Amino acid sequence: MPVEGFRFQCVPGCSNCCEQKGNVYVTEGDIERAARFLGLPREAFEARYVYRTRHQIRLRKPPKSACFFLADKRCTIHPVKPVQCRLFPFWPELVEHPAQWTAASGYCPGMGQGELVQIGSAVETAHQMRAAYPALYRQPGSGKISPED
Ligand code: SF4
Ligand code: SF4
Repeated sequence: MPVEGFRFQCVPGCSNCCEQKGNVYVTEGDIERAARFLGLPREAFEARYVYRTRHQIRLRKPPKSACFFLADKRCTIHPVKPVQCRLFPFWPELVEHPAQWTAASGYCPGMGQGELVQIGSAVETAHQMRAAYPALYRQPGSGKISPED
């Protein structure tokens, strides 16, 4: 972990994080907000875009793209995008593991740029991830991607 904190500023026109492998996990609040934003009944939004397992809820994936909401390198639900999208790159698995932070900076050109984010504030943001997705982080040291259980 850098001694002083983390630098990050999202780069306009980039959507690399949306295009990575892995799932977009959502909270009940994310579903509610996105459905309202799109003017859909919650049930219709769920049926079209959401996949639930025993302990996790995530977005379904379209056959030829990384996310249903990615269009022309932009998020079409940007004002209400899911917690994990909003908090990237301040995820526990990145903030708490320097090697993973460095690895992610390989695809995120905003990491290492811009204002300095103090460690305390980065850790606080990472805690929001843990709070939003308790099933994903219930095992100490576990990363974002967990088995589908
Ligand atoms: S919901 Fe939006 S920000 Fe999140 S992965 Fe999809 S397009 Fe990207
Ligand atoms: S990869 Fe980084 S710079 Fe690109 S859109 Fe995501 S957060 Fe912003």
